[in-house]
This record gives sequence, C-alpha cells and structure tokens, in this order.
Amino acid sequence: MIKLATFETFIVDVPTIRPHVLSVATMRAQSIVIVRLRASDGVEGIGEASTIGGLSYGPESPESIKLTLDTYMRPILEGCDLAQVGATMAAISKRVVGNHFAKCALETALLDAKGKRLGVSVSELLGGGRLRERLPVAWTLASGKTATDIAEAEAMLDARRHNIFKLKIGKRSVDEDVAHVAAIKAALGNEVSLRVDVNQGWSETDADRGMAGLLEAGCDLVEQPVRGHAHAAMKRLSARHSLPIMADESLQGPEDGFALAMQSSARVFAIKIAQAGGLLAAQELCAIAKAAGIELYGGTMLEGGVGTVASAHLCATLSDLAWGTELFGPLLLTEEILETPLDYSDFSLGVPNGPGLGIALDAEKIDRFRRDGSTARRIHAV
Ligand SMILES: [Mg+2]
Repeated sequence: MIKLATFETFIVDVPTIRPHVLSVATMRAQSIVIVRLRASDGVEGIGEASTIGGLSYGPESPESIKLTLDTYMRPILEGCDLAQVGATMAAISKRVVGNHFAKCALETALLDAKGKRLGVSVSELLGGGRLRERLPVAWTLASGKTATDIAEAEAMLDARRHNIFKLKIGKRSVDEDVAHVAAIKAALGNEVSLRVDVNQGWSETDADRGMAGLLEAGCDLVEQPVRGHAHAAMKRLSARHSLPIMADESLQGPEDGFALAMQSSARVFAIKIAQAGGLLAAQELCAIAKAAGIELYGGTMLEGGVGTVASAHLCATLSDLAWGTELFGPLLLTEEILETPLDYSDFSLGVPNGPGLGIALDAEKIDRFRRDGSTARRIHAV
C-alpha cells in the first residue's frame, strides 16, 4: 500500500501582464493554489486549482480551496492507497460534497504521482492514451479597448503564437460590444477565428440582439451568453440562432452535461477539468458530448503551468477537439512557475511527454510569489 508521507498546499500570487477585463472581474494577478504531496515510496505529485477574481466567478475561492484540501481532504488521504487514484477520489467524494476545484487539484497530484511511479505521462493514464502531441491555442483579448486588442492580436499573428481569438464582452451595452467585435474582425480578416465569451452577462433579450449582430460581424461562436443555470433560455437561443452557443459556467460536472445534451441547449462544451471536478469527471463529460454530437473545446480557468498541463494531457486524448483550446493561462502571467517554460509555437502548445505531468515547479519563483513564503515575510519585515 502506497501511503501519504507529506502533504503541502500553498497559494502563489503572480501578476498578469496586463489587466484582464471580464464581465465579472478585472484581474491584475492570478492566485494559484498548489498541492504537493509525497507518497511513502518517495514519489511526489503536484496539482493546481485556480479560479478567477476570488469569488467573482464561482463558489470556490483560492483560500477556500486551500482550506478544503488541508482540513477536509488530507485526513481522508491518510487512510487511502494513493496508487489507486479512482478509489482515493471516490473516498474523497463520499465525504466532501462539491468543491470541484479542490478535488481537481488533488486528483491531478495523484495522477502526476501515479504517472511518475509507472513511468508514463498522465495522458497515457486517461482513456486510450494520447492522440496528439500539440494543441491549437486561442488567445483572449480582454484589455477592454478595441485598438489595444487589435494591436495585441496582430502581434500574436506576427509571432505565429495565436490565430484564434476570444473576446471578453458583456460589461458594456450589447451594441457597443457588437461594434467592438465587428471592428476587430474587420481589422484581422478571415485568416482568424473570432469568438466571444459573455460570462453570463446577458439576458435572453440581450442575447437575441447580440447573437444576431455577432453573426453579422463574422463571429464564429458565443460562449455562455446567459446565466449558467438558464438551460431553457439557452435551448431557445440555440433553436433561434445559427451562431453556436458554447456552454461554460453551465457545466459544473457530468450531470450538467447530460442535462444540456438532453435539452439541446448548447452545441459546444468548454471542458474545464476544475469545473468538472477533475480529469476523470471531465473525461465523463467528454463522453457525454461525443455521444450527443456536441463539439468540444479545451477551456481554461486561467491556470498557471500545472493546471494548464493537466488540462493539456486530457485534451491530447480527445479524438475530436473541433474548437481547439484556450490553454494560454501561463502566457497571461508575468512569470512562468515551471522549471522549463511550456512550448507555445506554431499557434499551438506542445504537450509535455515526461512521466506524470512531465513538469517541475521552479523553486525560486515559487518562493518569490508564495503568499506565505519566506521572501514575502522578509519584504513585510522591512
Ligand atoms: Mg468562459
């Protein structure tokens, strides 16, 4: 039996390269929760949970995720065989309701350790293993300013880093947002795919007006136009408009995916490992989508390197990933927290192929950005 030897969680606050303006919050830093465990055989596993703007996006905050891991999950782990990831997560789920982000961080660490123990990458532990080595990656334009967004997109195209762009809208009036999208599409042309994310910012009436305008503007996809629980409104909008709706905040696990599929409320699913409740739950969600003819997109919670790579391992196993991914989280941060920076090139992300997640934390940067770290304490002492 592989037992728990050490267990540690900490929050790392890393600044963003520019303010990231969403309908629910403006981010100037990302707070990344890291779980690092060591098993009795000496193998270490790391996992991450990140969310957006404290409690602006969802019911778990960085602080509550850390507390859940330390206070409620760690004691359960002490009675588990950590080599058995599915059984361990079942034991956790029996005694911890919800808390999908915390569960995802823990499950990621267990899978990382298991992969290292077996000498295979996490993607080889999921489904039939890896089907692709690289993933298309969208960039999100969210400066809040049209001219800045155009200049940012042109720089990305020149660098061959991204040719898919997602615009964050929903904060201004519908007409202002549609004009913003139309101006960016006109400037960038047909070489790029332009999508929008409203982050639940519209009423159904707003969405009717907005979706008609967005189609006209050359937009390809609208993500979560109305509240996540408004499945009936999403169904009506999907029936009325040819612009496809992608569900994001609606998808809080496989059960939501099933409900949306049953009602034909969305034509695309944003797969987020944290929101789903972990990589294994996200896999179940992908299976529901596949069976229902719903297309897939690899979503992000703007995770740092660890969560991004965990998502990439899952996405690498999907046979159909019609809308690519948005696994750009580390690029939004001023510093990469991994020893070896991820490979973003040719409009795509290379999926690491070492054992486990195939990555390691950069100790110096973790120490520098840790909320409770020695550096932070020194700064405060001065
Ligand atoms: Mg979204």
